[in-house]
Amino acid sequence: MILSELQTGEKAVIVRVNGHGSFRKRLIEMGFITGKEVRVVLNAPLKDPIEYEIIGYKISLRREEARQIEVVTEQEAREALVSDEHLQALPGDLADKERLDKALAHVAEERHHNIRVALVGNPNCGKTSLFNIASGSHEHVGNYSGVTVDAKEGHFKYKDYEITLVDLPGTYSLSAYSPEELYVRKNLLDAMPDVVVNVVDASNIERNLYLTTQLIDMNLRVVMALNMYDELQHKGDKLDTKQLGYLLGMPVCPTVSRDGQGIPELFDTVLKIYEQSDPYLARHIHINHGTELEKSIKRLQTVLYGNEDIRSQYSTRYLAIKYLETDKDVERVLADIPELKALQQARAEEETRIRELLDTSAESAIVDAKYAFIQGALAETYEKYQEDRPRRTLTDKIDAVVTNQWAAFPIFVLLLWFIFWATFTIGQYPMDWIDAAVAWIGEKVGALMADGWVKDLIVDGVIAGVGSVLVFLPNIMILYFFISIMEDSGYMARAAFIVDKLMHRIGLHGKSFIPMVMGFGCNVPAIMATRSIESRKSRLVTIAIIPFMSCAGRLPIFVLFAGAFFPSSPATALLGIYLLGIVLAILSALILSKFVKDDDLPFVMELPPYRVPTAKATWRHTWEKGKQYLEKMATTILLFSVAIWLLGYFPRHEEATTAYQQEHSYIGMLGKAIEPVNEPLGFNWKMDVGLLAGIGAKELVISTMGVMYAQDGKEYEGLESEEDTQLQAALKSTVPTAAALAFMVFVLLYFPCIATFVAIKSETHSWWWAILLALYTILVAWLCAFATFRIGLLIWPV
Ligand code: GDP
Ligand code: MG
Repeated sequence: MILSELQTGEKAVIVRVNGHGSFRKRLIEMGFITGKEVRVVLNAPLKDPIEYEIIGYKISLRREEARQIEVVTEQEAREALVSDEHLQALPGDLADKERLDKALAHVAEERHHNIRVALVGNPNCGKTSLFNIASGSHEHVGNYSGVTVDAKEGHFKYKDYEITLVDLPGTYSLSAYSPEELYVRKNLLDAMPDVVVNVVDASNIERNLYLTTQLIDMNLRVVMALNMYDELQHKGDKLDTKQLGYLLGMPVCPTVSRDGQGIPELFDTVLKIYEQSDPYLARHIHINHGTELEKSIKRLQTVLYGNEDIRSQYSTRYLAIKYLETDKDVERVLADIPELKALQQARAEEETRIRELLDTSAESAIVDAKYAFIQGALAETYEKYQEDRPRRTLTDKIDAVVTNQWAAFPIFVLLLWFIFWATFTIGQYPMDWIDAAVAWIGEKVGALMADGWVKDLIVDGVIAGVGSVLVFLPNIMILYFFISIMEDSGYMARAAFIVDKLMHRIGLHGKSFIPMVMGFGCNVPAIMATRSIESRKSRLVTIAIIPFMSCAGRLPIFVLFAGAFFPSSPATALLGIYLLGIVLAILSALILSKFVKDDDLPFVMELPPYRVPTAKATWRHTWEKGKQYLEKMATTILLFSVAIWLLGYFPRHEEATTAYQQEHSYIGMLGKAIEPVNEPLGFNWKMDVGLLAGIGAKELVISTMGVMYAQDGKEYEGLESEEDTQLQAALKSTVPTAAALAFMVFVLLYFPCIATFVAIKSETHSWWWAILLALYTILVAWLCAFATFRIGLLIWPV
């Protein structure tokens, strides 16, 4: 009986919960577990939801949900007391209630041990052979497709279980194109087997896994029978079945159904999956269809999620994918739902968007994404004995070069070098224009206003502040332009693949590498780029170490100091600083990956075919990042640069020199206040003020110190002017070499800068994480600077 048919007041024991994964998980979390007793509190006809009591709690279930739960009623138990031999043998002196309880438990147990297993696979992968050998029946086994036209059922006993095995027709996919496909799908969704055995032809694995990806979408309980394993071994190919199982989220059992090898292990695994006795055996993964398609899927899924009937019957993700594929059968399923209009509109819009961006229909983009997933999974687990396959496709040919074991790294490094070069060389022009434009506007606005602090605020605080933000926009957009091309062309996936093994050693993934490299340009887009990392842990750790990648904003500081204090070998000093950042990043990754909560499950790195990126997609990605930068960062950066300006401007000391003003402003006072803290590092209060200003943006360190060190009220602007040497001279005469080096180390490591801080907050959705990282970097900076200073003193005594 099913739970929804129980009347008010009736009691029953749960046999099993059917339905797709996330639905079952939710019910099980509520307490609907096999063997538990459930009572109907109120089941009025036509009334939804129904109220139940289970393990002492009252819970409402919708009728549709209750239909997925199989139970044994007291009535059924009473009948069993009469008919079942086992129950007749109960001692006669048992009280009625006890007798009934025993009967309930017994029948529930017995039914729970009756399970349905469906065989699903491509034609000719050996389903019928497996069916025959397991069930002992002798269906005709043929070496051509189409023999199995209907489902065959066989029964057999395995351990304590009565297994009903269903041999379904062979299909290559679960689209709704052929009657076989529809039939299999209907069987999986309506007849609801307890466990699906996906039979896969190991000698033709790539094509066979396509069907597997669709089963993953459906969120069913699947065990893979990797059949024809003998042929794979015979060819000398190697397949890491365990790793493949991890990646796909399902157990993979090698079988040879011609002679029965591996069949007992297969059914042992089926039982484990059914009883969920081993939590590490299976997990539900999402096949990553790429950023754009995933957006579309999410959107449709959100619409579907509003419909509770649909939600309890199907995996909404599966329906969303199928609906996006314009699957006729799923369209029929969804034809009467109230959300249809919204759904149709969402699909039409998404279809247009995908066509514009990817230059193909959503349907074929989904197929491509699934193959990219398969390629990625196999690249990590499958090794052909001989690369006997001729290099047919363009993708194969390109891959032969860019993933070649000797050429891969040099090509990669060269590409990155080119991208950085282009970002900063080309970026210089718009940067200069923006600089000039901001200066011009400042001048014009200044001319219109009366002298006073309001004018200073508008011109030096707000306009200059906005300028300091805008000036990096070209860099960010150019960097993203190239990143987007690398990503859309399919190269990025290979790059991630190449470095994956290396990155694993520090507890990260291949996908962490690109954001880290981008960090040398600017930490902000680098942190935004971590979005492509699925694993939460890897993503958090990557975000945490990016600030150690010395960004371009820090470069002028190092150039200035290296020039002043290490005139004979500035490049070595610079390289040393960059290397120190990298070493600390690696150390931090090693340490942090021990502390961040582990969801470190392997995931597939998709290998999509190479494709020429569309102009539209490239532009859109580039602009999106630019917009994000402006929206999210600009507001905060502006706020902070105004704040820092205010701190330097007040309290006012009219008539005084700028340097005097700075020293006696709030920021000067703050610098003096923290002087004792940084004294062990050899810093003076002017350097401390520079560091404080650097919290706003690292670019401010030099200009602030320039002002601080200015004598006779003379100001130092930055690197461009010839007064640089004066600042350098001033530093040299007042700062010991060891302290200067310690200062470089501190600048490299401490508080990333407000924009990065905000980026961390918005990407991790947590102020805590951002604050924690800021504190962590400050601590590391202090400790390393301290060590540098002390060791430095031995080399360059004062
Ligand atoms: P179905 O279409 O999936 O039902 O596949 P069949 O069970 O009809 O098998 C197709 C062919 O593959 C038959 O000739 C089988 O003998 C052969 N076959 C099945 N399993 C294996 C296996 O594990 N190893 C080898 N070498 N051949 C197999
Ligand atoms: Mg068959």
